[in-house]
Order: sequence, then structure tokens, then C-alpha cells
Amino acid sequence: MLKRALKTWFLWELLIGLSVTGRYLFKKKITVEYPEERTPLSPRFRGLHALRRYESGEERCIACKLCEVVCPATAILIESEEREDGSRRTTRYDIDFSKCIYCGFCQEACPVDAIVETQEFEYSCETRDGLYYTKDMLLANGDRLEKQIAANLAADARYS
Ligand code: SF4
Ligand code: SF4
Repeated sequence: MLKRALKTWFLWELLIGLSVTGRYLFKKKITVEYPEERTPLSPRFRGLHALRRYESGEERCIACKLCEVVCPATAILIESEEREDGSRRTTRYDIDFSKCIYCGFCQEACPVDAIVETQEFEYSCETRDGLYYTKDMLLANGDRLEKQIAANLAADARYS
């Protein structure tokens, strides 16, 4: 009883809390001043999606629809047709990012590394429509970020 009373009178718990504060007061600060400062991102970071091309400029996607089937959020919509040369390509490839849960299944399922998730995460918007990406938008992401995508795939290759 006396011990408890003394602890209460001398605000023991408060002193313990302040000792933690004191211990960290002069340590190096780890707070990051985003967006001026940024933390490093893993090559496996799952952000904005992109559709990639081969060096020739040809689309990698062969419209196999594995990504569409595997997507647990039914966020991907693909339509395809056969070209004159007999190859199959998408005529429509949409991703609704208001549905996407960034699980990465689409990237894992793709046999030709066509659909990938990039390290882009600053694409918020104020309407749902703004999160609906068409094939052209996804291809533009791929064209813009190909260097980053290729570097990240190469960095992760030894673990896959
Ligand atoms: S990351 Fe997952 S939820 Fe998003 S489009 Fe790919 S498979 Fe679907
Ligand atoms: S992105 Fe990949 S998995 Fe999806 S349809 Fe194209 S080739 Fe198939």
C-alpha cells in the first residue's frame, strides 16, 4: 500500500515516460520531412501499374488474360483481337485503381513481364474516374518508367 502511495505521489509512471523522452532527446532524429525527404523504396514496391514494350516498340502483352483471371479484385478488363499477322493483342486493357488492392498477382501471373507494378505512388486524385487507367495510359507509364522497371526487375531477379 505504502509503495503504491509513494509511486502515486511522486508521479512514478510520468517519470518513467519522461525518461524515455529524455533518452531520445539528443539522439539522431529519424523523422522524414516528406516530400522534401524520401525513404528508399524496395525494388518489390507495388505501386502504379505499367504496361511494357519490347525494345522494338512492340507491346509485350499477348492478351493471354492470365492477369485478368488472377486479379482478386476484378480490377482488370481486357478485350483482344487477332492481328493480320496472326498474333493476338489487346484492343482494350483497363485497370480500375479504385478496386485494385496492389497484391501483385497480375505481375506474377504475366508470362512476358508485360504488366508490372512500379515505384510510383503519388497519383492520388479527387474522383473515381481519375483512378481508371486505360491501355494508352498504362503504356505511357511503361514508356516513362521503363528504366526504373528494368532496374527493379533485374535487382529482384535472383530471388524469383
Ligand atoms: S495488383 Fe492485384 S488487385 Fe491490383 S490489378 Fe493486379 S491482381 Fe488486380
Ligand atoms: S499483361 Fe501479361 S498476363 Fe495480362 S494479358 Fe497481357 S500477357 Fe497476359
